[in-house]
Amino acid sequence: MANSQGAPSTSAGTRKEKIYCANCINCKLVRSASDEGDQYYLRVRCAAGKWRKKLGGEKVYKYFTVARRNIDECDTYEPMGDAREFIRELKKSLPIKDEVYSSQP
Ligand code: SF4
Repeated sequence: MANSQGAPSTSAGTRKEKIYCANCINCKLVRSASDEGDQYYLRVRCAAGKWRKKLGGEKVYKYFTVARRNIDECDTYEPMGDAREFIRELKKSLPIKDEVYSSQP
């Protein structure tokens, strides 16, 4: 809805859906090496470079927290499908803590 100036309305009561980063094509799962040889942790990063530390470096998050990453707006959001259904299923499959994985079988 537009207001009298033609700009989008931001009045109270107009509520947009939250954007879940996990449902965005730019949210990438990556490995982060641990100090123990062949072991690693899982991290998520924003391939569009939107997650930044205060001093400007890239911020990555622990994989098990990915369902919590949401923002109100993002100009590079590329949804991969219905967010609510996806997040519900994702929450069921996420680990409950930061787990260490091994690249050895
Ligand atoms: S592009 Fe935006 S919505 Fe997508 S992962 Fe990055 S910050 Fe989240």
